[in-house]
Formats: sequence, structure tokens, C-alpha cells
Amino acid sequence: MLELRNINTFYGEFHAIRDISLKVSGGDLFLVVGPNGHGKSTLLKTICGLLRPASGQIIFDGKPIAMLPTDKIVEMGLVYVAEDRHLFPQLTVMQNLKLGAYNVHARGKEKENLDYVFQLFPILREFCDREASTLSGGEARMLTLARGIMSCAKFLAIDEPSFGLAPIVRNEVFNRINDINGNGITVLLVEQNVTHVLDFVDRVCLLEDGRIVFGGDKKEALLNDHVKEVFLGG
Ligand code: ADP
Ligand code: MG
Repeated sequence: MLELRNINTFYGEFHAIRDISLKVSGGDLFLVVGPNGHGKSTLLKTICGLLRPASGQIIFDGKPIAMLPTDKIVEMGLVYVAEDRHLFPQLTVMQNLKLGAYNVHARGKEKENLDYVFQLFPILREFCDREASTLSGGEARMLTLARGIMSCAKFLAIDEPSFGLAPIVRNEVFNRINDINGNGITVLLVEQNVTHVLDFVDRVCLLEDGRIVFGGDKKEALLNDHVKEVFLGG
């Protein structure tokens, strides 16, 4: 479904992503782990068109996307879900959701997708007339995920969804991500709380200094001493 071939991304002179190749199969939940500042967010932003790779190829659903603008990539169903700052705080929950349904495919499926997100996150139905700025951290995180679904995502790239959340809310967010994945949306997840998501994960890659130092399925990951060290530290 998604394939990266020898991707390199720079910030000016700084070489943040170094020759990364990986494959994410349709339906998988693919976990990216690694210490802070080692390129996880940069990798997601490169995939989703927010940063341009200096070299390499990104193939999504059989098509090269590395040179496409973000809105075209979203239209193909590849959606980046970052922190809540991407919400529009002065708009209501419903208005934020409808903005997610802006692309051509999503417009026709707005009603269907809305039913699905309200089923996943009943609290958003309850709060649909509230300004997004009044939501708690966990509710805002749910709204960002819901907005991704409203875009008709087939593939969600989710960056540290638990960041700043209390454990109970964090676990709810993880469970909803598992539900979303179970309903057929492929997920590329960056997450530090590895032990809490491990049950859901199919494949794991470990990023250090912008390079993949381990890639494999969950079983292999749990047999690798270096990966285990990072897991237990996370
Ligand atoms: P992670 O998500 O793994 O914490 P990032 O991908 O955010 O790491 O950052 C990887 C490296 O790139 C870090 O060394 C960081 O300082 C650097 N970096 C991130 N964003 C920028 C930027 N906008 N300009 C320059 N350097 C950046
Ligand atoms: Mg990051």
C-alpha cells in the first residue's frame, strides 16, 4: 500500500532522514519507534507531503506521490494526524469535522463518515456545537482522528497521539485507533508508549539518527535486544 525507496530528507544542511526504505501493507498497524529528535515526525511529514524528500521515491497505492502537493495526497486517502494545533479552535466540533470532508471523495461520503465518527467517538456528537477550543486534550485528539476519517482516509499517519494525555484517556485513544485499524484503515503510528500499543501492532521499525536500525514483525521485534531496550525505556 505504501512503499518508501531510499528516502532522504534535509532541513537545510541537516540530514534528518537517511536512506529510508520501508513497506506498509494494506490493513496493517505499523509502529515507528525511536528516541526523541531522531526523525520520526520528519518521516511522517515527508510521507504526507509536508516536507519534500531530497531523493528517493514514495509509492502509495501504486502511484508515486513524493512530488504531489499535500491536498492531492489527502485526496488519495493518505492523511496525516498531528497534534491538536491543526484544529480550528474558534470553529465548532461539527465545523472542524466538515472541514475534514473538504476533498472531492470525502464530500460525497460526508454523512456516512460522520455516522462512523460519531459511533467511534460519541462524545463528539454530544459536543458537536461546542467550539473546539473548549475541548479537553483527549477530546481534541479524538477530533483530529475523526477529522482524518472525515477526509475518507485509507491510510492514517498518526504522530504521538498520546502526547500530553492522562493514562486513562491515552488508553481510550489507543483503543479507538485499534478500532479504526480493525475497520480497514491502514495505520502508520509514531508512539513512545510502546508497551500500551504493542497488542495492536503488526510491524515495528526502530529509527535512530534518521536511519532504520530495525524493521520486522512484532515477534521479531520482541526477540531483538536493542529493540526491547527501547521498548522498556519507552
Ligand atoms: P522526532 O519526531 O523523532 O522527535 P523530528 O523528526 O521532529 O524527531 O526531528 C528530527 C531531527 O530534525 C531533530 O534533530 C530536530 O532537531 C530536527 N528538526 C526537526 N524539525 C526541524 C526544522 N523545522 N528545522 C530544522 N531542524 C529540524
Ligand atoms: Mg516527533
